[in-house]
Amino acid sequence: MNSFSKNISLVVIILVCVAGCGRHDTHTFRQTHMGTYADITIRQEDFAQPHVTEAVNEAFREIERIDHLMSSFRADSVISRINRTPRETPVQLSPDVLAVFREAIRLYSLTKGAFDITVGPLVRQWGFYSQEIVHSLPHAEEIQKALEVVGTKYLVLQPETESFYLEKDGMEIDVAGLAKGYAVDRAIEAIRAHGVRSALVNCGGDIYCLGAKSEQDPWKVGIRHPRNQKKVIGLLRLVDTAVATSGDYENFVTFGGERYSHIIDPRTGRPSSSRVIGVTVIAPQCVTADGLATALFVMGADEGMRLIETLPYIECIIISEQKGSDELEIAISSGIGDRVTILR
Ligand code: ADP
Ligand code: MG
Repeated sequence: MNSFSKNISLVVIILVCVAGCGRHDTHTFRQTHMGTYADITIRQEDFAQPHVTEAVNEAFREIERIDHLMSSFRADSVISRINRTPRETPVQLSPDVLAVFREAIRLYSLTKGAFDITVGPLVRQWGFYSQEIVHSLPHAEEIQKALEVVGTKYLVLQPETESFYLEKDGMEIDVAGLAKGYAVDRAIEAIRAHGVRSALVNCGGDIYCLGAKSEQDPWKVGIRHPRNQKKVIGLLRLVDTAVATSGDYENFVTFGGERYSHIIDPRTGRPSSSRVIGVTVIAPQCVTADGLATALFVMGADEGMRLIETLPYIECIIISEQKGSDELEIAISSGIGDRVTILR
């Protein structure tokens, strides 16, 4: 086949919330946001309480608000406006964009550039902003040219004035790698503010488990088999923590039989070519879990695991393909303890 075919699916493919499955002890509200499903699950016993309904509504409004600020697909988003601003022109930042930029800069440094919100020009070249079929791969020279303006180090924050500027012409910010996680954190904040102590927010596989599901039970989150959507290969038991997943099966292009991930390696300018096919990260905040899941995909299992083992309160599960074998390799960080069960 001599053209890209796209698979940009709406469904949450890897992380399936199995909270209360079949037992009807929880109630899930669903809306569509940020190109995916946003689910908010609460205990059945809280369902009829007016402050809980208000909390859920407010949480959805927060997710929508963050999408309006951060989307690369909306011409009127703050990010799109930033991308139209000439270089070296200071741009004032709202508290949300400032928080996301700060976390992005921290992750850029932690991951030695594997996580980079200035990948926009590369994402564009590989056709991920377009709904249309792309008929050829970008040329090496085009990639090289785009790489010249890729680097979070060219995004200069000026904390004293809560502003920043871009150092190079043609730079393009893309916060999709952590915006959903940030939206989940904001949704949880809204739920907490209404006095609700138990809820689960899931935005396209970026999840926060507030409190526990019940006095006896933690929240349970299943990890789907990256190559067989019907199969759950792991079960997580979580309380008061975030968990996020990145996979190569949700959003990719194929060309000449090869599958190209929408996660770009900013060091080569090409879709990530690690053998990793699924990453799940547990972290105190969903914005961190989301960003690191994207980064580990680029870094690969060995380098990724080495990083995670140095970070307190952060754990991961990295699923890789082995060359010439159908067997998957599953690497689990040492501090995860009994929070995970792998079902082979
Ligand atoms: P998903 O929820 O589909 O797994 P991710 O959170 O993994 O999405 O983010 C992928 C998106 O992040 C890409 O579509 C692109 O816009 C952006 N992106 C791609 N490569 C990188 C990278 N190396 N660092 C940061 N963001 C990236
Ligand atoms: Mg991510």
